Amino acid sequence: MEDFQYREGELYCEDVPVSRIIKEYGTPCYIYSHASLLRQYRAYDSAFSGIPHIIAFAMKANSNLAILRLMAKEGSGVDIVSGGELFRALRAGVPPQKIVFAGVGKNPDEIRDALKTDILMFNVESSAELQAINDVAASMGVRARVALRINPDIDPKTHPYISTGLKKSKFGIAADRALEEFKLATSLKHIEVVGVHKHIGSQLTEVTPFVEALKKILGLVQQVKAHGTDIRYINIGGGLGITYSDEKPPKPQDLAAAIAPLVQHLNCTLIMEPGRNIVGNAGSLITRILYTKQGEAKRFVIVDAAMNDLIRPSLYGAYHEIRPVQQRFVQAATHMVDVVGPVCESGDFLAKDRTLPEVPPGEFLAVMSAGAYGFVMSSNYNSRPRSPEVLVRGGEAHLIRARETYEDLVKGEAIPAFLN
Ligand SMILES: *Cc1c(COP(=O)(O)O)cnc(C)c1O
Repeated sequence: MEDFQYREGELYCEDVPVSRIIKEYGTPCYIYSHASLLRQYRAYDSAFSGIPHIIAFAMKANSNLAILRLMAKEGSGVDIVSGGELFRALRAGVPPQKIVFAGVGKNPDEIRDALKTDILMFNVESSAELQAINDVAASMGVRARVALRINPDIDPKTHPYISTGLKKSKFGIAADRALEEFKLATSLKHIEVVGVHKHIGSQLTEVTPFVEALKKILGLVQQVKAHGTDIRYINIGGGLGITYSDEKPPKPQDLAAAIAPLVQHLNCTLIMEPGRNIVGNAGSLITRILYTKQGEAKRFVIVDAAMNDLIRPSLYGAYHEIRPVQQRFVQAATHMVDVVGPVCESGDFLAKDRTLPEVPPGEFLAVMSAGAYGFVMSSNYNSRPRSPEVLVRGGEAHLIRARETYEDLVKGEAIPAFLN
């Protein structure tokens, strides 16, 4: 959030007043800071500079082409979870040899496209998927590089919806079945086993679960190597948290300091898949106050952004700091309010029971730390066009996605002739 600061009485993103951006592009509007994105990416990259590594930015956190291009220019690869993400990554110029493909439900078309572009590897989540990749690779006469995604059964101590490494989770291969799966994988003619992968969850605020999970994985790597399979890549996944309110997550260098001693001697390339940590605090969502309303039991601030624009509060009960765009309101009298959008759902809120200074209708609020899992999770629910995205670099503001139009809303829809 360092690049969103008050200056001369109003909120700036880098050297651009937020008010200037919304005058041009309207609200709701996503704004990202170029400096923040670079700083976070470089923090990760330099933290691991002592070990051969590939940063595969988890693009599901933010997949705008401009952001992907920026990452690619810095040397980043990407972690993709769909054919659509592969398409975006290639369109943005991400080199295929830095693309890894995760997800429990890759379909044959997606597997074929990924093999055709010769991505670095698939992170395989089940024996059925291993078989499917082998079949597609066989039909193409190629060998698919894979890492097996192991579920280490470690509690990441985060929200259940973003925990992925527990026994009850749909992700990965159970640690105690892993050796068997490795044997199966090495027996398949069109599969080349090159690595192991784990990703235990998101918004982790401690290093310990990373270390515990990695230790479990490394034990397995030894066993697999003993069976004659060369493991060249160790993928530690993403998940490093950010500060939304008062969390104090470890920094990339803390993570590196804890992890490097465990892997340094292994002669492997480390892959990591940070998403939220790189883009989360680099973005905010600007919204206009439409009305305030004193209900029977509650006071509401009704704004023009809604759950379709930013679903994290509704979906996970997530906290996002909310600030007035004009600094003079920071000192205003406060009230306990719900900040809600226009969508016809009681679950449509950006903040609940939040103490906020009184800001009048017509003024603007900034919903902070919205750069990750913000725009990408937005929808057209209630036939609301999706927000524009703006990338600020120094004193320049660049539109990187235009606001959708009403025509965009009906694109691809058709009325069959029998209804004429
Ligand atoms: C979502 C995801 C990530 C990124 O998680 P963050 O918490 O955003 O860093 C990395 N790897 C995999 C496999 C994922 O599904």
